[in-house]
Amino acid sequence: MHLKSIELQGFKSFIHKTKLEFGPGVSVIVGPNGSGKSNITDAIRWVLGEQSVKTLRGSKMEDVIFSGTKKRKPLGMAEVCLVLDNSDGFLPLEFNEVSIIRRTYRSGEGEYLINNAPCRLKDIHQLFQDTGMGTDGFSIISQGKVDEILSAKAEDRRSIIEETAGIVKYRNRKKEAARK
Ligand code: ATP
Ligand code: MG
Repeated sequence: MHLKSIELQGFKSFIHKTKLEFGPGVSVIVGPNGSGKSNITDAIRWVLGEQSVKTLRGSKMEDVIFSGTKKRKPLGMAEVCLVLDNSDGFLPLEFNEVSIIRRTYRSGEGEYLINNAPCRLKDIHQLFQDTGMGTDGFSIISQGKVDEILSAKAEDRRSIIEETAGIVKYRNRKKEAARK
């Protein structure tokens, strides 16, 4: 599986619809300070269901929507579409390509879609659970994260190992079963 493309519209500094395409292998995003490189990784986290505004470097969820400049009015909606190549069947869906869309409006409303079908946040979490790619995954390592892992408490380090080993889904199912 690999990231094929990401399309942003109204997300942070990406006022115009912007599509970035990636091939298999290593891709590098370069640009001057403040040009929006980290905003792209924020968009990947966000579309995969990130709920923490702090992780997204904001103070409220609305901060992901283009907030305007001297010359341009703020926008009312942010949308990110991520397309993954699933021809190796890595994700448990019978599709060679999987697209994930997240939209949010200033009113606070929003939605998620998997292959254009509306879904719940829970469905996104389940799709990426134990792949290392979801919001608890380690496919995005931000500044300071390595130090954090090294100095983490034993239980926190254990949860990192559990996610990497792919056993979180069993733990969650056990928790759910115990509740019933
Ligand atoms: P560096 O090299 O310093 O890490 P970067 O390329 O990672 O820079 P980003 O942090 O991605 O830069 O982009 C920061 C820019 O995004 C700032 O100019 C900031 O004003 C802009 N920005 C962030 N949120 C919004 C928003 N909601 N609306 C408009 N612009 C925004
Ligand atoms: Mg940056």
